[in-house]
Amino acid sequence: MSAPQVSVVIPVYNEEAGLPALFDRLYRALDALAVAYEVIFVNDGSRDRSAALLREQFQRRPDVTRVVLFNANYGQHLAIIAGFERCRGERIVTLDADLQNPPEEIGKLLAAMDEGHDYVGGVRRTREDSWWRRIASKAMNRLRERLTRIRMTDQGCMLRAYSREIVDAVAASREVSTFIPALAYTFASSPTEVEVAHAERLAGESKYSLYKLIRLNFDLVTGFSLVPLQLFSMFGMAVSAIALVTYLYVMLYRLFFAEWQGALYLVWDRDILAFFLIGLLLFGLGLIGEYVGRIYQQVRERPRYTVRAVLEQPERPLRGGVQERDRERDRA
Ligand code: UDP
Ligand code: MG
Repeated sequence: MSAPQVSVVIPVYNEEAGLPALFDRLYRALDALAVAYEVIFVNDGSRDRSAALLREQFQRRPDVTRVVLFNANYGQHLAIIAGFERCRGERIVTLDADLQNPPEEIGKLLAAMDEGHDYVGGVRRTREDSWWRRIASKAMNRLRERLTRIRMTDQGCMLRAYSREIVDAVAASREVSTFIPALAYTFASSPTEVEVAHAERLAGESKYSLYKLIRLNFDLVTGFSLVPLQLFSMFGMAVSAIALVTYLYVMLYRLFFAEWQGALYLVWDRDILAFFLIGLLLFGLGLIGEYVGRIYQQVRERPRYTVRAVLEQPERPLRGGVQERDRERDRA
């Protein structure tokens, strides 16, 4: 394989139904670009026939295909990192396997890089997802915009292109729970965005349950901002200050108007206020737990994922290279 200019990294988790169509459109689109490319599929511990399909595709196009096979499911973002750690291209494009990101749009991202940008984010023109996903995603984009320094229009769009330097920095970051578009953004010197099309999922269903989506958004917030913790300190200060002022008010009132029936008496309900504060305290405790849990995962320094096999052609035909390749295939 000559050094490719473009590496396309695709995480795959239980996508057997859509993979044949993806192979068909992706390779056709890349061939049409007339650049030296490689495609790196990372099988994220699929339990269906995805791994077998990827192996077949590797055998069909071994010159431009590489496959990393995880032994278990580690999540989309770690799968992309595994691709980043092995890709060889000068420019790296990420893409979902379900054809929601049309491969025909890759040329647009590369054109933006030709203009000198090192980070090109896709913005989905019309989003073809369920209404609750669209609303939740808008809210999260707004929240991220306020809590972090990361500026992007559509954080959920995985159709993006990065320079070699950015991808190296991401791979070197060694983060356990992360959000690639945001992490990469922190290393970009000239980020830009382009509008891209978005399609309905071709086959199968979304691999993100509501629970997984919430976890992912916690990764985004905790990974790039301490503002939530600071908000809690400030809220604590505000509550103490209000309590102090109220106390002074009540004392003075009692002193000067013995029969106190002030406005305060109308709105004061200690039980309800107590429940409200307890709820907030529990939320704050959980929030601290989110940060602490991630610190715990990070300091244990376990391997972030384990690779069962890599299917690839040896870079240069070595002596005995064929046998080596066969051994690799056998292991897979
Ligand atoms: N994916 C993955 N591991 C996971 C979940 C998802 O590799 O644990 C892959 C999935 O195969 C797809 C991409 O990540 O290529 C995006 O997933 P999906 O389309 O289900 O997410 P959605 O479009 O619903 O946000
Ligand atoms: Mg999808």
